[in-house]
Amino acid sequence: MRELEERIKTDGQVLSNNVLKVDQFLNHQVDPDLMFAIGQRFAQLFMDAHITKILTVESSGIAPALMAGLQLHVPVIFARKHKSLTLTDDLYTANVYSFTKQTENQITVSKKYLDVNDQVLIIDDFLANGQAVFGLLEIAQQARFNVAGVGIVIEKSFQPGAQKIREQGVRLESLARIKSLQDGQVTFMSDEEN
Ligand code: 5GP
Repeated sequence: MRELEERIKTDGQVLSNNVLKVDQFLNHQVDPDLMFAIGQRFAQLFMDAHITKILTVESSGIAPALMAGLQLHVPVIFARKHKSLTLTDDLYTANVYSFTKQTENQITVSKKYLDVNDQVLIIDDFLANGQAVFGLLEIAQQARFNVAGVGIVIEKSFQPGAQKIREQGVRLESLARIKSLQDGQVTFMSDEEN
């Protein structure tokens, strides 16, 4: 997605050879117009997939997931990373090792909102080693809903998550695919095609 790649080039900060900071439009301050366009793109990609629910993880997955839900007219569920006093019903849980925080979190989703009849689109902001997505796929196995695909805003293609997801036969659509963050420079897979 050209608009997203341009925004990453303008406002992204390369913190190291494997971490990109996009606090200016996605992870802290959020640009609603860009998120709307991202939601439209996901909706276009998964238009014929009969999606009934979108599933993401708090907190940075919520903005793009909500915009996709708005376009597809389906509810958006976000897995919680923190225990909630009000989330006391039967829960699906999975352990997820956080790439950025380097800690393990238990993610939880209420059994009330997902079941065997659902056709689910998983959305997240970044894809690195695939831990977050694999946690959500584990919840899919527990709840026995079908995963129509995974939509990622920024895939770091040089890390193993994308390949691992595709190897499982899961459809993966990433709107920006980063080939490298070497030497403070963002290089996209699409740069090679031009
Ligand atoms: P994974 O679970 O695929 O290893 O990592 C994905 C999760 O870690 C995302 O939900 C995102 O919050 C965070 N993450 C991974 N890499 C980056 C990065 O380069 N920058 C930012 N801001 N977050 C990242």
